[in-house]
Amino acid sequence: MADKNLVAYCGLYCGACKKFINKKCAGCKENVKATWCKIRTCCIENKYSSCADCATYKVANDCKKFNNPISKLFSLIFKSDRNASIARIKETGTEQYAIEMAKKNVMSIKK
Ligand code: SF4
Ligand code: SF4
Repeated sequence: MADKNLVAYCGLYCGACKKFINKKCAGCKENVKATWCKIRTCCIENKYSSCADCATYKVANDCKKFNNPISKLFSLIFKSDRNASIARIKETGTEQYAIEMAKKNVMSIKK
């Protein structure tokens, strides 16, 4: 399914995640328990729908919150390139990005 509301603050596409599909997680935007996530907290505080809206950092590469050790580890394990995902959202818009990810059935652009 393609749904722009399933694009996480960090650029992951929750609509292609097994946990979401199996109804074990409501997705990043609805997951109020994810208070540990600095990216999510930052976007909510700034009223951004993702880091692609960030006014402070033109490129997510510059942001220490975005490039925190946990997200780096996850990127390594899952070979996900969330910087590329955020760049793609900036380029095409969230709706088109959701369509592309849903069509490919992937959670992010791969490294
Ligand atoms: S890392 Fe943070 S912003 Fe990304 S999906 Fe998880 S909770 Fe959401
Ligand atoms: S790029 Fe960094 S500062 Fe900008 S919204 Fe994302 S986490 Fe916040």
